[in-house]
Amino acid sequence: MSPADSSPASQTAPVVAVVGGGQLARMMAEAAAALAIPLRLLAETPGVSAAQVIGDHLVGDHTDLAALRRLVEGCSVVTFDHEHVPSEHLRTLESEGTSVRPGPAALVHAQDKVAMRRALSALGLPVPRFAVVADLDEVTAFGLPCVLKASRGGYDGRGVWFVRTAEEAEAAMRAAAVSGVPVLAEELVDFRRELSALVARSPSGQAAAYPVVESVQRDGICHEVVAPAPGLSDALAARAQELALRIARELDVTGILAVELFETAEGGLLVNELAMRPHNTGHWTQDGAVTSQFENHLRAVLDLPLGSPRARSRWTVMVNILGGPGAEPGRLYDGYPHALARDPALRVHLYGKEPRPGRKVGHVNAYGDDLEECRDRARHAAAWFAGELGDESE
Ligand code: ADP
Repeated sequence: MSPADSSPASQTAPVVAVVGGGQLARMMAEAAAALAIPLRLLAETPGVSAAQVIGDHLVGDHTDLAALRRLVEGCSVVTFDHEHVPSEHLRTLESEGTSVRPGPAALVHAQDKVAMRRALSALGLPVPRFAVVADLDEVTAFGLPCVLKASRGGYDGRGVWFVRTAEEAEAAMRAAAVSGVPVLAEELVDFRRELSALVARSPSGQAAAYPVVESVQRDGICHEVVAPAPGLSDALAARAQELALRIARELDVTGILAVELFETAEGGLLVNELAMRPHNTGHWTQDGAVTSQFENHLRAVLDLPLGSPRARSRWTVMVNILGGPGAEPGRLYDGYPHALARDPALRVHLYGKEPRPGRKVGHVNAYGDDLEECRDRARHAAAWFAGELGDESE
């Protein structure tokens, strides 16, 4: 008997299959538990983040169709912790009767940067100037400096190269050639800051837009998110939300869609990236919004009515906890007595991961009426857990 069968809720609630055992699936499980929605997980290896909390899991590879078929057996819908499942497998699952949310035709725009740029520019939406480039001559014809991106397989800044000279461009093209995927050249955008517009959309077309946030990236990794984006005019915030809602509708996205945006020096918006799953720039919603992105993702993929995306507090600041040089196994729990005593209002989310340097192992949310105070509290706690502050608890 699987754990799902032993629950009375399984008599009525459909089982949601989730591919990928990272922290996003783990946090989906929190929301699923509150709604008594059973999840079944396909984990990459035993003991990964989400497998620690989802009893009904199997271990297998997301590129293995047989494993995917085993995962969805008896599930009405499948959704994702990441966007790496091959489209052809998703089409097969669909043809065999499983609802895939988001569907493969939408998801390709989060898997393939070239497909995304082409689709958005065909819709007349604002994107950086871009071209697909095959060799160094085409890069120099496009113009330097520029940003080169592998069309597929990159994340957290991997597969992105900022090139100023022909030498740098040549080295980047060589590095990109290893992955064997097309390369995109983009203008180097002079942006004021990065914003993110998060929306949830259900198959029947209901949609909810969260407040637009500012995200601070370091080396291509999201470090800090402030909700709402400080000083953003109502007009620009509304434009960003409309843009995200329109993309969700036009691409027929189901679940959460995160639209990463550049606010340009001239005060305009350009779309950088799309993600079709809960996103790091939406972690603040766990404690700062009426309905978290994880709950709305589940509601959306099941075509249930969506929850309010409204902020519960004037400000919420999210700071990621990255494994640092001082972060050794066991350090995170050892950090609790000081961090929790120092700030009883702090919300801590750890992912059950070993804190290797640079690895995202958790985040904290601080909310309140004073932005600077929230920022200080969240930064302090994240630095403390990362082992960057020395032992100030003594
Ligand atoms: P990833 O797939 O790793 O998330 P992105 O395309 O989001 O890659 O790029 C990572 C980071 O690089 C962005 O968050 C942004 O800070 C910077 N970046 C990406 N594209 C551009 C661009 N065209 N101009 C300037 N900066 C860029």
